[in-house]
Amino acid sequence: MTEVDLEPVIGLEIHVQLRTATKMFCGCALGFGEPPNTRTCPVCLGLPGALPVANAEAIHYGLMIGMALESTLASVSTFHRKNYFYPDLPKGYQISQFDLPLCSGGRLGEVNIHRVHLEEDAAKLNHAGASGRIEGADSSIVDFNRGGTPLAEIVTEPELRSAEQAGEWLRLLRTTLRTLGVSDVNMEEGSLRCDANISLRPVGSEQLGTKTELKNMNSFRFIERGIRAEVERQRALIEAGESVTQETLHFDPKSESITSLRSKEEAHDYRYFPEPDLPPIVITEAMLERAKAALPELPQAREQRYIEHLSLSPESARLFAWRAELAEYFDSVCASAESLKPQIAANWVTELQGRLGDQEAEDSKVSPAALSQLASLVEASTITQGSAKQILDELVANGGEPSEIVAAQGLEAVGGADELAPIVAAALEANPELTARLREGDMKPIGVIIGEVMKETRGRADGKEVTALVREQLGLS
Ligand code: ADP
Ligand code: MG
Ligand code: ZN
Repeated sequence: MTEVDLEPVIGLEIHVQLRTATKMFCGCALGFGEPPNTRTCPVCLGLPGALPVANAEAIHYGLMIGMALESTLASVSTFHRKNYFYPDLPKGYQISQFDLPLCSGGRLGEVNIHRVHLEEDAAKLNHAGASGRIEGADSSIVDFNRGGTPLAEIVTEPELRSAEQAGEWLRLLRTTLRTLGVSDVNMEEGSLRCDANISLRPVGSEQLGTKTELKNMNSFRFIERGIRAEVERQRALIEAGESVTQETLHFDPKSESITSLRSKEEAHDYRYFPEPDLPPIVITEAMLERAKAALPELPQAREQRYIEHLSLSPESARLFAWRAELAEYFDSVCASAESLKPQIAANWVTELQGRLGDQEAEDSKVSPAALSQLASLVEASTITQGSAKQILDELVANGGEPSEIVAAQGLEAVGGADELAPIVAAALEANPELTARLREGDMKPIGVIIGEVMKETRGRADGKEVTALVREQLGLS
């Protein structure tokens, strides 16, 4: 048992497949879903004597990423061989970068970047069953189409403090990369992959604890759940007086279980050495200018613009700037009703998002047009805020048109004093004791009266209007 509070320390390593026309070191087109082994050549198959040539476009994309992450860009950068044996790596080594990466340092949002380097992706192993068996044993076949795809590996400093923060930050990174147009950044398809390094330490301590590494999680949800599960596993160990073993782990999202892939003892010694077949990359002024000119408006600039031009609150601006798809959804809500104030639209998008759990707004049954119509109905006082939230629940569950739901369920707000006054009068009459207190200026029971009126009108009355009528009817100023 320990009495000290423990805090999670998380650093991320992100592999991004770059969307270039050809592979990192050969002229093969990138393969996505083509028949196996149709995008190969002697270079990416690792045949003896074949020579690699670095892809200028991948270097250009790497520089754009470095600029977007405020990194220091190398003037000279080199490739190294990272040696290990695996069936998906025909050369017996991966060409990667070691001590002279393309980009060093940097920052995105609240997190410092350690480095960004270029490397090639491994081929893809298709395990058992996919294409039969070899004499009683399960077989695996290798598809070399992916082998040699350009990757940027982005490594953060260990500065994230929770699963949620890691998830949010990763969304910002994804949005940034997507905006740059350098990658498809699709986690399910593997063009964005994330390893999370996790340790715990006593709050206030500067020293890092022993870390474990959760490998290759392929969705935001899994990453957050995986980190949460691993933090809890480590916390239980430490609180039981045991220690964390440095190892590489796999999180199974189905069973929520964590299993060891390899321990520190089995860790690879990669025997890095300079790639003799590739000259150093010399970054010229012209290359820097070209990368700079290619930079679009980045999320943080967009955040500023939302605040300055649309008068969004800092919270809404950040929410949308960090999540490109949600921002697009928000933009469509605004576009569907020009009279709608952007902040009102933003509030309804947030309201919707709060009801969706793991689902994204753009995948929900609520179209931007429906949400914008709902917001406009409230703004026009056709329905109350309360009814609108009820309708939103309905839209989330079944989709549909807000105006039709209003008509079908008779949810038009009880408008004006004429209709509402007798209902308020009846509520006061039914509660003589509360009415007496109200008359003496004790406003506490007003909630009960409003509640009664709401019950009577099925939530179609406006609370403020009810309050005004109560005051009027009791002669309160
Ligand atoms: P390795 O040599 O095991 O790959 P690195 O020092 O290269 O480790 O760091 C890899 C990633 O792990 C980085 O994102 C870094 O921020 C993170 N990291 C390093 N040490 C820790 C730690 N003790 N706790 C959490 N994350 C860490
Ligand atoms: Mg590492
Ligand atoms: Zn090739």
